Amino acid sequence: MERALVPQSVRTTCPYCGTGCGVLATPQPDGTVLIAGDPDHPANRGRLCSKGSALTETIGLEERLLYPEIGGQRASWDEAMDLVADRFRETIDAHGPDSVALYVSGQLLTEDYYAANKLMKGYIGSANIDTNSRLCMASSVAGHRRAFGTDTVPGCYDDLETCDLLVLAGSNLAWCHPVLFQRIAAAKEARPDMTVVLIDPRRTMTADIADLHLAIAPDGDLALFRGLLAHLADNGRIDSRYVESHVAGMDAAIADARALDRAELLRRTGLSEAEIDRFFALVAKTERTVTVYSQGINQSAIGTAKVNAIINCHLATGRIGKPGCGPFSVTGQPNAMGGREVGGLANMLAAHMDIENAGHRAIVQDFWSSPSIASQPGLKAVDLFAALAKGRVKALWIIATNPVVSLPDADAVERALASCPFVVVSDVSNATDTLPYAHVRLPAAAWGEKDGTVTNSERMISRQRAFLAPPGEARPDWWQVAEVARRLGHGAAFAWKSVADIFAEHAALSGHRNDGSRDFDISAHAGISRAGYDRLGPFQWPQSSGSPAARSRFFASGGFFTPDRKARALTAHDIDPAVDCDAYPMTLNTGRIRDQWHTMTRTGKSQRLSSHYAEPFAEIHPSDAERLGIAPASLVRLESPHGRAVLRALVSLRQQPGSVFVPMHWTRQFASAGRVGALVTPDTDPVSGQPASKHGQVRVSPFAPALYGFAISARRPDPAGAAYWAIARASGGWIAELGLDTVPENLTAYARRLFGADARAEAVSYSDNRTGRHRIALFDGNRIAGALFLSREPVAVSRQAVIGELTREFDDPARRFNAIAGRPAADTPDRGAIVCACLSIGVNQIAAAVRSGSAVTMEAIGELLKAGTNCGSCRAEIRQIIAANRPVAAE
Ligand code: SF4
Repeated sequence: MERALVPQSVRTTCPYCGTGCGVLATPQPDGTVLIAGDPDHPANRGRLCSKGSALTETIGLEERLLYPEIGGQRASWDEAMDLVADRFRETIDAHGPDSVALYVSGQLLTEDYYAANKLMKGYIGSANIDTNSRLCMASSVAGHRRAFGTDTVPGCYDDLETCDLLVLAGSNLAWCHPVLFQRIAAAKEARPDMTVVLIDPRRTMTADIADLHLAIAPDGDLALFRGLLAHLADNGRIDSRYVESHVAGMDAAIADARALDRAELLRRTGLSEAEIDRFFALVAKTERTVTVYSQGINQSAIGTAKVNAIINCHLATGRIGKPGCGPFSVTGQPNAMGGREVGGLANMLAAHMDIENAGHRAIVQDFWSSPSIASQPGLKAVDLFAALAKGRVKALWIIATNPVVSLPDADAVERALASCPFVVVSDVSNATDTLPYAHVRLPAAAWGEKDGTVTNSERMISRQRAFLAPPGEARPDWWQVAEVARRLGHGAAFAWKSVADIFAEHAALSGHRNDGSRDFDISAHAGISRAGYDRLGPFQWPQSSGSPAARSRFFASGGFFTPDRKARALTAHDIDPAVDCDAYPMTLNTGRIRDQWHTMTRTGKSQRLSSHYAEPFAEIHPSDAERLGIAPASLVRLESPHGRAVLRALVSLRQQPGSVFVPMHWTRQFASAGRVGALVTPDTDPVSGQPASKHGQVRVSPFAPALYGFAISARRPDPAGAAYWAIARASGGWIAELGLDTVPENLTAYARRLFGADARAEAVSYSDNRTGRHRIALFDGNRIAGALFLSREPVAVSRQAVIGELTREFDDPARRFNAIAGRPAADTPDRGAIVCACLSIGVNQIAAAVRSGSAVTMEAIGELLKAGTNCGSCRAEIRQIIAANRPVAAE
């Protein structure tokens, strides 16, 4: 293949979640790339989830940004780099270093991140570099730093498998860290005595392995863990020896926890006495306890307090840093940890050093020999875009992220970008919602095309390796940063010949004047050669030059990174957010779904990944749906004080009454009004600056189009003019879900425009104005150009049967009417909604197998249908379908 760099397998790392799975990528002669899990990688041991398995479908060149552009016109790299450097220099000269900013991403490789941070903090002299990781785990960072004196994850993945009690707090591992979930599920299967508690307002797929699900009230976690600390103290479970030797402030934390009375505990958590008692007793009696937490804890106005409340319980019991014990933050992004290690957050310095610490500033400046060093924290993400709106930041470089979708109050972000005098965007995609606001667009090298390292949630540093040549003129992000730095007069400090040189410098800085005073130390790799870097296998930090053998856990014997080497137990109180509950009575919860990643610039290219959920949805409880007059599969309007969205109603008992869940992924590229960021209030945690993306307030009402529509199209459909639309890739083309304000006057003309079909396309159609049902299919020769189904109610056709028409040949004209039948042929069963994306197995197939009694276990379903036998990400859903249908089978 033209783009392949090497013909053999390349060991690299998945670019999605913080599990950090190793991948074997093998370019094939036909231009495809075989993707498999790396059996030797310690994070996944050969497994991949649905997203990792579909990586080969996301590396095509459609929608790639291939050349630099200035003002929408192709430019050379020299022209683009000169302009970026000139505008940044002019702005700094006129308004000072804090008038410019970088907004970067946990998608960056560590070396990219290192270069960007060095330029901003050491050479421009401002700390105005923040990252989309602020939206993901900043509260964990803040909680770690407050408790441990530094941002350390004390344990490792093995602890999640070897503990006796695993508490999953605000963490839907089944969908957000699927391979880690599979490791835990396998451990639990092997050791059924291992107990799993899930704390989550929603009954997510993770509940599949939970012995106890606590459907906690939104933000009730702080009260729960304060109550737990009081319970541990009242029942003699404090490890006094550990606390006396290694923890300061525990007496005050316990007194504070005891001040929370039972009634308040019940009110805040929304749990029953029995549920709370059971949870407290489990933790009290189980020495080997791990608490895993992620966005449900972090994305809150009290996120840092929640993190510290969890850590308090582990410090109080000495359950930290030992096998099978500890608090464990899992990161959302592939390199959130690497970004933290290089100081990619506005309030940190490189190598886990503190910006507020003059000694640390001197170490970094000395190492860099830099003309300046940022002396105070810069603007955190939400504040950065507020400063942009106020004109305080006048030049912004956005790298590898899509803030018009992902930030809270996303419409205000859009207005801020529109008002900014100079915006640069580096991206791999030419179709993001942020790109229209860029004065300069810079094409970045994508996964598979660039080299570097990433760090996963257990401090494991792994190589990403290139196996494809970058297309067009795409360049790695570190190279772009270095080119601008050179033009700003700092060439010598950014004169890296390769990414290996950056890694060596990063490693050397981690050991510079360290002597065990800082946790992050990989100085064993400071002298790494390019060949050594090419060979570098996964390793867990720290690996200092003095003791290169890695230590996999921290703090079993204290040794915290505070001045007195003691940890800090913290006190914290709940706050009642000031929200207008009359106007916006429902709580908005946002999050990920199984098969999409962030703003879909990559996973949206895969028809396989789009088959699980093909449009944005709002998941609401049946009682709310009934009260609000919302029928299943109808459309709903969500409004907040900041914006609105129109989504498909998913009525589900998994949701709590009074709450609505909306996925975070959809953009204007795929839906008319699916950006949940537009609804989210820009409230942030006062310590971490992390937005409260899981606790918004909205009102929900029916959105009633005159007609609902469903369409398939061989080309990308053009739904312009529809009151609602959502499109997704499907096998052989695209699908579209539609809501129309009026019945098209000329159905054929409407269909032609929707499908991009010309006037020669032949039509078969059916219309019934009395019932409001209209159907039309257009044909280009013997292939279908598209088919459209309209009705007054949500369109009830078999989606999978209709999608199948996209790959069919219609040699017999009489057969064409079947294309608008909307149901499978008599001899073809209707698969229903796809559950197993890898093998395209639908819910109806699984349910039918269970009901008939031919397969009533996970293993039997696997044998009969193959469902769940590839990546295994769907196994939790399959188990639910089995459970829901088994009683019928037993009758
Ligand atoms: Fe990638 Fe899935 Fe592994 Fe996460 S769990 S790193 S998304 S393969």
